[in-house]
Amino acid sequence: MIIPMNEMYLGETAEIMSLDEQIIGIRRLRDMGLREGKLIDLLHYDPLANRKIIIGVDNARIAFDAELAGHIKVRPLKSYYEVVEAQANYDRLTGCLNRHSIECILTREYEKFLSNKIPLSILLADIDYFKRINDTYGHGAGDGVLKNISALFKQLLRRSDCLCRWGGEEFLILLRGTLMNEALQIAERLRESVESHIFQPFKGSGFVTVSMGVCGLPPDRRIEHLLEMADTALYEAKKSGRNRVNSCEVAI
Ligand code: GH3
Ligand code: MG
Ligand code: MG
Repeated sequence: MIIPMNEMYLGETAEIMSLDEQIIGIRRLRDMGLREGKLIDLLHYDPLANRKIIIGVDNARIAFDAELAGHIKVRPLKSYYEVVEAQANYDRLTGCLNRHSIECILTREYEKFLSNKIPLSILLADIDYFKRINDTYGHGAGDGVLKNISALFKQLLRRSDCLCRWGGEEFLILLRGTLMNEALQIAERLRESVESHIFQPFKGSGFVTVSMGVCGLPPDRRIEHLLEMADTALYEAKKSGRNRVNSCEVAI
């Protein structure tokens, strides 16, 4: 459940999901340490007076107008377990699963695959020439692109799919119960969504693209092979021009 920060209960802990960049004053809050993925505690707020809100973040207290807090979306964390879980399993910047948690999921899915023969496919997506974006427009713009791409992917994927930030500008997507042909179609849809999206600070589409490697799990291979093959497919996609999907041919 995602709510505006000014709807939190006193004493509640929440994770920041997004800040409305259009609102004057948001930049100042960012400078004070309010960022996506940060955990905050609501320390003081009187909804009837609707004036100042005080929150705790990184052992500091930040005070600002309650009106501004309405433009910050948070996910309240009900228990200490959820707080720890959010820190341990998710990537701070994008909110995707992190590498540690996808590795646990992959192992479990592989066991299921062995016993039930439910197919499994993997996509590796790598942003093309990402370093250039950082170098030309700054690290903040690069971070924005990473967040936007993960949001685009989340929108297009199914509930049974897992989206992970695999490394700096690489995403791994696990498609449960999906054969290679369908995985290729999904990959193409994701690639196209990035190509046609207009990212800040660019004025049109086509400036940000991704290359993808796709691989389906053949019955006689281990999960490490699946990753290796997806990686090889991705490498080939890069080599043959980028902004394309490539699959690894597997002899079953
Ligand atoms: P290619 O098309 O071959 O993939 O080129 P590339 O520039 O995308 O690849 P390269 O590996 O040269 O650069 C990746 C860059 O990603 C370098 C690194 O600084 C940047 N990066 C990694 N993590 C983050 C992050 O969290 N935020 C930002 N803004 N940049 C990041
Ligand atoms: Mg890379
Ligand atoms: Mg790259």
